[in-house]
Amino acid sequence: MSLQDLRIALIAAAQTVIDSQDMLTKADQAIGDGDHGLGMARGFKAFRDVLEINSYPDVPAMLKAAGQAIMMTSGGASGVIFGTLFMGAAKPVTGTVLDGKGLAAALVSGLEAVRARGKANVGDKTMVDALAPAAGAALVASERTSVFAEVAYSAAAAAEAGLEATKAMVATTGKAKGLGERAIGFIDPGALTLSLFLRSFACAAAGSGSVAP
Ligand code: ADP
Ligand code: MG
Repeated sequence: MSLQDLRIALIAAAQTVIDSQDMLTKADQAIGDGDHGLGMARGFKAFRDVLEINSYPDVPAMLKAAGQAIMMTSGGASGVIFGTLFMGAAKPVTGTVLDGKGLAAALVSGLEAVRARGKANVGDKTMVDALAPAAGAALVASERTSVFAEVAYSAAAAAEAGLEATKAMVATTGKAKGLGERAIGFIDPGALTLSLFLRSFACAAAGSGSVAP
C-alpha cells in the first residue's frame, strides 16, 4: 500500500474511533472511570490532524508522528499505550510502501513496545488481549497471502475475537483491577478501541484498491 493510501486508511480508522466516543465512554463507565471515550477521541483527533496537515517522507516517519500526537494529547493510561503502539509499529518498517508482511511486522513490534511499556500480559483484560491475537493473525496471514487487505482483515477479525474474550476476564491491571469478578461480563474499553480501529483500517485498505502493495 502506498504512503498516500496508508495515510487515507489511517485517517479513516482514526475517524471511526472519534465517532465511537460515546460507545467507548459507556464501555469505560462499566468497568473504569469513564474517561476512555474522551481521551481516545482527543488522541485520535490529533492523530488524524497531523496526518491531514503534514506530509511525511516515509511510512515510519508517518507512524511515529501519529503515535506522538496521541501520546501528547490523549491523557490516561490509554494515551501512553496507544501512542506507544504506533511508535513501536514504526520501528521495523522502512520506505514509502507498506505490504502485508510490513503490516504484520509493524503490529508485532507495536505489541512488543506496548508490553514493554505497560507490562500487561495476555489475559489481563487490556487492549493487549486484542492486539496480541491481531499481530499473530497478521503474521500467519502474511505468510499465506500478499494481499494487503487480507492481512489487515485477519488482524481485525482476531482483534474482535480477542475483544469478545475479554468479557470473561478479571482485570489484573488498570482501573478495573479493584472490581475483581464484577468486571466479568464486560468488554475491555481499550480492546474495543483497537478492534474498531483495525476493522475500519482494513475496510479502508480494501477500498483503496491496494490489493497489491
Ligand atoms: P485510564 O485507565 O487511565 O482511565 P483509559 O480509560 O483511557 O485510561 O484507558 C483504559 C484502557 O487502557 C484499558 O481498557 C486498557 O485496554 C488500556 N490499558 C490500561 N493499562 C494498560 C496496560 N498496562 N497495558 C495495556 N493496556 C492498558
Ligand atoms: Mg478510564
